[in-house]
Amino acid sequence: MNYIKENLYEVKNRIEEAAKRAKRDLSEITLVGVTKTVDTDVIEKALEAGLIDIGENRVQDLVRKMDILEDRPNYHMIGHLQTNKVRDILGRVKLIHSLDRISLAKELNKRGKREDIVTDVLIQVNVSEEETKFGFKVEETIPFIEKIQEFENIRIKGLMTMAPHVDDEKILRETFSGLRKLSEKIESQKYKNVDMEYLSMGMTNDYEVAIEEGANIVRVGRAIFGERNY
Ligand SMILES: *Cc1c(COP(=O)(O)O)cnc(C)c1O
Repeated sequence: MNYIKENLYEVKNRIEEAAKRAKRDLSEITLVGVTKTVDTDVIEKALEAGLIDIGENRVQDLVRKMDILEDRPNYHMIGHLQTNKVRDILGRVKLIHSLDRISLAKELNKRGKREDIVTDVLIQVNVSEEETKFGFKVEETIPFIEKIQEFENIRIKGLMTMAPHVDDEKILRETFSGLRKLSEKIESQKYKNVDMEYLSMGMTNDYEVAIEEGANIVRVGRAIFGERNY
């Protein structure tokens, strides 16, 4: 499984190069290794090779891997989160990237209050307005933030988006810079419980462009772990 170490090295190099182009430092960018469909023995190799943060999009897989890997990696929930699954991961993940509706915010806040847990979340924004994607439209995002101002058991730490599956760099850049501009607008309003610390954008196909456009979290699966066979 030496390929994991090599892939990780390659991805980190590319992140560093993209960061340089954007006049930023590698240390400012968090690489989340997306481990969906990847077995824990393979994930362990990646952790040994220096990966710190891992992301999953299904609660069931996330919990199973947490039980084995325990507190070694930081865990990120990056996929659509069902309200009835909140209890399984509350207090166990570093960041939820996929706050995409008010009912989820309510559940995180209600359970968080009961268990005295404050959850860090990113709001998922569907910048490209693809019908297949979850998330708020750009113009829905600020009204949503205004609605959850009094939710003391969640902290909004930034925004997340997924770019469309295209090779057209112009479209990718528009998507990513759209998220960055929205984040700057939100930051300037000084909302309570809101701190636009993170921009989570960029996957295997587009993480370098995302970094050039301001990403400080990239979520990379295949470039580290290889193609997935579902
Ligand atoms: C699968 C997934 C990724 C990683 O995609 P790759 O193309 O394997 O890098 C990133 N973010 C989310 C939300 C995902 O579901």
